[in-house]
Amino acid sequence: MSTAWTLDILDGGIGLLTIDLPDRPVNTLGRQVMAELAEHVATLADREDLGGLLVASGKPGQFIAGADLNELGMLVDASEDAIEEGLASGHELFTAIGELPFPVVALVDGKCLGGGTELILAMDERLAVDEPGVEIVLPEVKIGLFPAWGGSQRLPRLVGLHHAIDIICGGAPVAARRAAELGLVFDAVSRDVLLEEGRRIIGWLSEDDRYRQLRADRRAPMGLSDDQAHFSFAVAAGQVMLKTKGQYPAPLAALESMQQGLNLPLAEGLEVEKACARQIVGSEVSGNMIRLFFMQTRLGRDAGGPPGVDARDVGRVGVIGAGLMGAGIATACARRGVTATMTDVDNDRIDAGLKGAASVVESRIKIGRATPEDLGRMMAMLSTATSHAPLTDCDVVIEAVTENEDLKTSIYEQLADVLGDGAILATNTSTISISRMAAAAPSPERFAGMHFFNPVDRMQLVEVIRGETSSDETIATLVGLARRVGKTPIVVKDCPGFLVNRILLPYMAESLQLLREGATPDQIDRAATKFGMPMGPIALHDLVGLDTALYAGQVVSAAFADRAIEIPILGDLVAAGRLGKKSGEGIRNFTGRRGKPVNDPAFDAFLAPHRVDEREFSSQEIQDRLFLPMYLEATRVMEEEIVREPAHVDMGLILGIGFPPFRGGLLRWGDSLGAGPLLEKLEPLRELGARYEPTDSLTEMAAGNTTWHDTPSGATS
Ligand code: NAD
Repeated sequence: MSTAWTLDILDGGIGLLTIDLPDRPVNTLGRQVMAELAEHVATLADREDLGGLLVASGKPGQFIAGADLNELGMLVDASEDAIEEGLASGHELFTAIGELPFPVVALVDGKCLGGGTELILAMDERLAVDEPGVEIVLPEVKIGLFPAWGGSQRLPRLVGLHHAIDIICGGAPVAARRAAELGLVFDAVSRDVLLEEGRRIIGWLSEDDRYRQLRADRRAPMGLSDDQAHFSFAVAAGQVMLKTKGQYPAPLAALESMQQGLNLPLAEGLEVEKACARQIVGSEVSGNMIRLFFMQTRLGRDAGGPPGVDARDVGRVGVIGAGLMGAGIATACARRGVTATMTDVDNDRIDAGLKGAASVVESRIKIGRATPEDLGRMMAMLSTATSHAPLTDCDVVIEAVTENEDLKTSIYEQLADVLGDGAILATNTSTISISRMAAAAPSPERFAGMHFFNPVDRMQLVEVIRGETSSDETIATLVGLARRVGKTPIVVKDCPGFLVNRILLPYMAESLQLLREGATPDQIDRAATKFGMPMGPIALHDLVGLDTALYAGQVVSAAFADRAIEIPILGDLVAAGRLGKKSGEGIRNFTGRRGKPVNDPAFDAFLAPHRVDEREFSSQEIQDRLFLPMYLEATRVMEEEIVREPAHVDMGLILGIGFPPFRGGLLRWGDSLGAGPLLEKLEPLRELGARYEPTDSLTEMAAGNTTWHDTPSGATS
């Protein structure tokens, strides 16, 4: 049988235990691998001839990537016995490692994640290679869990409470050098001295049985004063609540585990940790987060079309229009090392675009996430022009000029003599039909949509829109390019509003309808944020601009007139120059202190003639009114095969509008309620109009008792 672990004995009686899963790109800690390790540890416990043990990875640049993905999938809907067994296996094994009769030192050369990090925390010391990519991470909160193989107890004892809270509740990677500063590793060293340093540390730990004293210290209660503990946990819980509104239980459970366990001996702290973990492993939120993780992994591999279609190599990208979006797109390319040429009509606009590009990296420099050299490197990848001529060498040209169909198509006609053979033209339009504009493109099969979201540097989603004539190669190339510039592409069939806006706009319109019926802006926004949205639809109107919302809403309403609602108040506000945040006044008023939005009696005057009712709404009623039309639109998107699978709707809405990840996505949310109960919820709302009429797919799902996502974990669907 092939084994994951190999034990060698080095000169001087030092063991070297190496993990290297055969035929696998990364090392993971599946059940079998843990069982093998347990056997080694049991044997090693009797080896009186050894002076120490080094633990390393046989895969260059990879230490341990955490849990085995198939087993992670099994945590969704896991039985209580399985959860208990999973927790106990890690605890027993890691405790046994900490009791070996000689010092144990981890040699970390590569990424060390999750259970891998908890494993090295159980050792006496750790060394890391001081290279980019060597990182220690406890990412469990990102899948609705927390480190519960001892991590929540051992890490604070090593690096102190403050840093432990940051690392565990934030889930961010800790680079090797930073890990050394924090005391998470003993030192960050160059690769060529790693083994030698490991041996030296074993020697140091062995002097006067120093490692035994260290073990005793780390098993003792931390001795936090009540004030200190109370203050740190209150601040941390406050920050978590602010960030998560209490909708993500994992970081709170981690805090509880630390708070209750740290002033106890380690063994008792570990029992506390298990009790806290039992509350969240297998919970609905954690299940949803794990499913999302799988969805994202699958999307990351999706080439966007039929198998066997290769993407073209993209060496140089052209971006027409140096405005908000064009500059953002060119910046995204240049930051990821893709040479980009940005054009606009005059030098003033080019300069503004370049300033916008620089500001993205400058703001990252301010928070320590980039260096002045990164800025220099990025700007060196960026060239500019006020004519189309330099676009000749571009493999992909992305048009991001003002949203005007005549302007866009006239530019496409000019490009016929400019673009090289095989070059792909993409448009960043938000609202115009791709299939219609393709007729003006130099090559309709090499034309498609590439819809980035605003602000480009922060929004991960790109909708790659397939027009009727777009070729598979065009789509595959744009999918590949989007991924190369750090985005998550989702392929969408051309339709009004594409995927995200088509589903978002009914929700936006409904929020204005609710105002007409008597709900207040605050009640509406509160109900939406209570549901988990990052901001309410009224605030969103003001943020994106009422003119933009009006225009995009008109495009979608015209296309889906059967179920659209008329919202004349939006036109009145725009006509009066109330455009939202950008003009200082919209639904709310932004002209006060620090631009903070406040409710505005002047808006009430606009609303008065449109009022149809003055009634009270419960938060639940507002949520049903807002999210059910959204859900129904998503089911129509599936019926029309606008995307290829439900996960695309779910991820698209999470990444595009911040639909709450803990709900697993819009269709997953519907699945969790069930088609039957959804029909019951819709029944009293049907009198409001066709937008609440159940769709065929929903009715069929209710009859057949089926769901959109038919596999429980999403791991293999
Ligand atoms: P913008 O007004 O900030 O920028 C448009 C730029 O196009 C201007 O700099 C303008 O000078 C330039 N331009 C006009 N005619 C040109 C020509 N003939 N040649 C070269 N440049 C020309 O607009 P924006 O917000 O960046 O939007 C651009 C596109 O992106 C639109 O299609 C819009 O619908 C889409 N979009 C916008 C957003 C958003 O939130 N702003 C989001 C997604 C998509």
